[in-house]
Amino acid sequence: MRLQNKVILITGSGSGIGKATALLFASEGAKLVINDLNEQHGQETVQQIEAAGGEAIFIRADVTKPDEVSAMVDQIIAHYGVIDVLFNNAGISGVGVLHEIEPEAWDRVINVNIRGVFLPSKYVIPHMMERRSGSIINMSSCIAEIGLARRASYAATKGAVLALTKSMQVDYAPYGIRVNALLPGTIMTPFVEDYLKKSYDNPEEAIKGLKKRQLSEELGYPEDVAKAALFLASDESSFVMGSPFYVDGGVVFG
Ligand code: NAD
Repeated sequence: MRLQNKVILITGSGSGIGKATALLFASEGAKLVINDLNEQHGQETVQQIEAAGGEAIFIRADVTKPDEVSAMVDQIIAHYGVIDVLFNNAGISGVGVLHEIEPEAWDRVINVNIRGVFLPSKYVIPHMMERRSGSIINMSSCIAEIGLARRASYAATKGAVLALTKSMQVDYAPYGIRVNALLPGTIMTPFVEDYLKKSYDNPEEAIKGLKKRQLSEELGYPEDVAKAALFLASDESSFVMGSPFYVDGGVVFG
């Protein structure tokens, strides 16, 4: 068991990558805190973990709201006493060329994808500092490093998360806290299906085009990212700090 008894909070784990990661972590002995805006999806993740013999609780909280995030962290500490790993995974898509994006839509993407990393980190880190131990995984994207069409607001957020990760790592290394970023390529989740539907008249053709950009010639699945997250969450990655960790089928070289 690579995560035996570790208490792990994964934001946005009612769906996609967060859910696949929660299921994998639970199978490796972790005690999961499933967070999501969507209560039904979050509870389904908990049920699947419990059905497989694992341990999990669900806490509904909006990662952009300080009161809700702070209360969630207090609840976890009251329940488990510690938080060993924080995976800042929750995020939303943003589609469009810059001059067509409405200011409100811009703010929404910036808010969830950047503030949604800031707030859980802000409230979890003091507990990790006290124990001089912890691993934080921030969800960036390969888009932080390559240009992709019609993703201006989203790209801005994922570049920011990568920069934030490096800054956090420098600040919190003295407290025994590791902070790394995951940079997935195109991973087939509800999030990507939504983006493809909104962006292309023919999503099937778009998928073929995306595959051609990959060295792997295939797109990824949530489980591919979950396996990388498992490494970053576990003590096996104890020498990995402030790293941009690619899980992208080589798209940054395509
Ligand atoms: P998804 O839509 O399947 O899951 C995201 C989850 O986050 C949803 O369950 C949603 O309800 C939750 N969420 C959204 N806003 C929230 C909020 N304010 N508070 C709490 N929960 C909230 O998406 P996914 O594809 O699994 O994406 C997960 C993360 O991975 C995102 O940060 C995304 O940007 C990133 N990512 C995805 C891909 C990809 O190709 N799928 C690639 C690179 C990075």
